[in-house]
Amino acid sequence: MAAVVPPPATSRIPPREDLNPLHIAQLQFDLAADYLKLDPGLRQWLRTPRRVLEVSVPVKLDNGQVRVYTGWRVHHNTSRGPAKGGIRYHPNATLDEVKALAAWMTWKAAVVQVPFGGAKGAVACDPRRMSRGELERLTRRYVAEIRSLLGPQKDIPAPDVYTDAQTMAWVMDTYSVLSGRDEPAVVTGKPVGLGGSHGREEATARGLLIVAEEICRLKKIPLRGATVVIQGFGNVGATLARLLAERRARIIGLSDSRGAVHNPRGIDPLRAQRYKQRAGTVAGMPGAPQIVADELLALKCDLLVPCALENQITLANADRIRARIVLEGANGPTTPHAEEVLVRRGTVVVPDILANAGGITVSYFEWVQDRSGWFWTAEEVAERLQAVMRRAFAEVVSTAEKYRTTLRRGAYILAVGRVAEAALLRGQFP
Ligand code: NAD
Repeated sequence: MAAVVPPPATSRIPPREDLNPLHIAQLQFDLAADYLKLDPGLRQWLRTPRRVLEVSVPVKLDNGQVRVYTGWRVHHNTSRGPAKGGIRYHPNATLDEVKALAAWMTWKAAVVQVPFGGAKGAVACDPRRMSRGELERLTRRYVAEIRSLLGPQKDIPAPDVYTDAQTMAWVMDTYSVLSGRDEPAVVTGKPVGLGGSHGREEATARGLLIVAEEICRLKKIPLRGATVVIQGFGNVGATLARLLAERRARIIGLSDSRGAVHNPRGIDPLRAQRYKQRAGTVAGMPGAPQIVADELLALKCDLLVPCALENQITLANADRIRARIVLEGANGPTTPHAEEVLVRRGTVVVPDILANAGGITVSYFEWVQDRSGWFWTAEEVAERLQAVMRRAFAEVVSTAEKYRTTLRRGAYILAVGRVAEAALLRGQFP
């Protein structure tokens, strides 16, 4: 791979850091649109969401009171296929965040060439303070409110932060009951017994592992013995920790929303998982002293894998990052300003729309299996995922080389070019 040169200083980057995820997503798009010289009309079309729905979700709580939550579903672009994207439950969710996440889904589907557009949904709530019954009622009412947007050919949700296979089972059942027919293909990330796919639950982490192997090979860093720090110990982060440990990488730091732990000699992810199941956090686990969350990101390591939320690596801490590679498990963890600092200091950033695309890829496999009624083995899923991720990685690297730019910019040029091509082929209605 040609040396990754710092992106050109660009007048588009505002002088002070703007942490609004939508502005960041649009800036990333604009930079690629500049390279591709998109005409202004097409640029405006691809830059803005196609449709946005805001809903009120009234939920009867266990104490008999009713509380009304705000939810959203956003379709960013559907030129390449039906809208696809997760549902997030988080107290700090905002409409701009959902719009950004939906845009990132559009580009991600295009990077791995699965025939989907981009969507995202969220409900501003704190699921950690809600009972299972409350979460079920919240999910069912949210689905009823956004139902007009959903459908196997229209919009197919999936899990995201603080939602899981059980949430997706409720989505599938609610949609099926309201439609009067069984519709497993309306949502992915379901339990295997309900039309889910083998390998979906660990797909995002497995995709990250494949990308980690590829980038380490390129950078001549043996994965065996490589030191790894993972921020966020949920579906993506905890599974990745286990997979990397199986490859004999050394997990030296971990964190979740309640604390961070560090042991330079290595942390056993299975022990961390067992401890978290009991204690609700990795903080306090035996054999790995607690550190403050900020210190975790500054640990010297080969691979730093943010697997929590947006805006974790910003101008405020970028100059303290000592990782050789930042592998974006989360969506939007690195701000554009921070990335400039990292790239200038020689850190390779593998962008979210490539690195964490294993989830959407196996979601596509699940959708194909549900629609054909023919289910694949775990080995078939793993093999096809590997082929898709390796091809996408190679294409992003060669695009970055061709344009002499970063992997993120290469991924965006590839993705935006593909979506623009589909939009132009379809033409403008009417
Ligand atoms: P999850 O809810 O299973 O886990 C999130 C984890 O992050 C939890 O351990 C939580 O404690 C931790 N966390 C939250 N705030 C934190 C903070 N400030 N510092 C440290 N840890 C914090 O969610 P997930 O599905 O693993 O998703 C994680 C990220 O990966 C999100 O950005 C999501 O959009 C992205 N992603 C998920 C998938 C998927 O298939 N689930 C696919 C692609 C991308």
